[in-house]
Amino acid sequence: MTQITLALTKGRVLNEVLPLLQTSGIRPEQEIKESRKLIFNTNVKNLRLLILRGVDVPTYVQFGAADMGIAGKDILLEDSGGGYYESLDLALARCRLMTASLKDTNNVEGRTIVATKYINVARKYYAQIGRQAEFVKLFGAMELAPALGLADEIVDIVDTGNTLRANGLVSKELIANVSARLIVNKIAMKTKFELIQAIIDRLKMVL
Ligand code: AMP
Repeated sequence: MTQITLALTKGRVLNEVLPLLQTSGIRPEQEIKESRKLIFNTNVKNLRLLILRGVDVPTYVQFGAADMGIAGKDILLEDSGGGYYESLDLALARCRLMTASLKDTNNVEGRTIVATKYINVARKYYAQIGRQAEFVKLFGAMELAPALGLADEIVDIVDTGNTLRANGLVSKELIANVSARLIVNKIAMKTKFELIQAIIDRLKMVL
């Protein structure tokens, strides 16, 4: 029996994607949010769901451990793996990748120090706009870095801007608009074409 494994991103993306799956007729056998399990069968024969951290979704899909995945465009832009197609824009979990700095700073002379967990995206962006920059990798709480003198600017995702404001920051430049995307392993797309296409069609119908 051919199995299809769909990797989902836990957190905000999951909250918005579960209702979409539900509407498209895909229901996990158990309530995902009430369980500590990380793998769930569904009412759709041969389809199971994995619950992962966003950054791990492209890795599972790249190596074929999952046939398909749903992750934010921010994660995909940062990922350097490849081996998958970006098949659908689910238009959910929208936000923006932006630069931000302290409210009351002038533009820094010379090199800008940028704190972010999106090192690849940031490096490419600052090169593109021709600004000399150095990058500090953080895994969370980027918003603290400017006030504590660790960085001049941050690159982070912004939705309402409340998190920035609460930390005395203002958003500056838009790097990319972000939404949840469906990705498909390139080999699985060939070898399991019909099953995968059926799932893509279900999702397309409700978008
Ligand atoms: P906000 O305060 O509304 O600008 O939200 C900013 C924070 O919310 C970010 O630092 C993220 O941690 C989180 N966030 C906002 N939008 C998303 C999203 N689409 N996916 C995941 N996390 C998000």
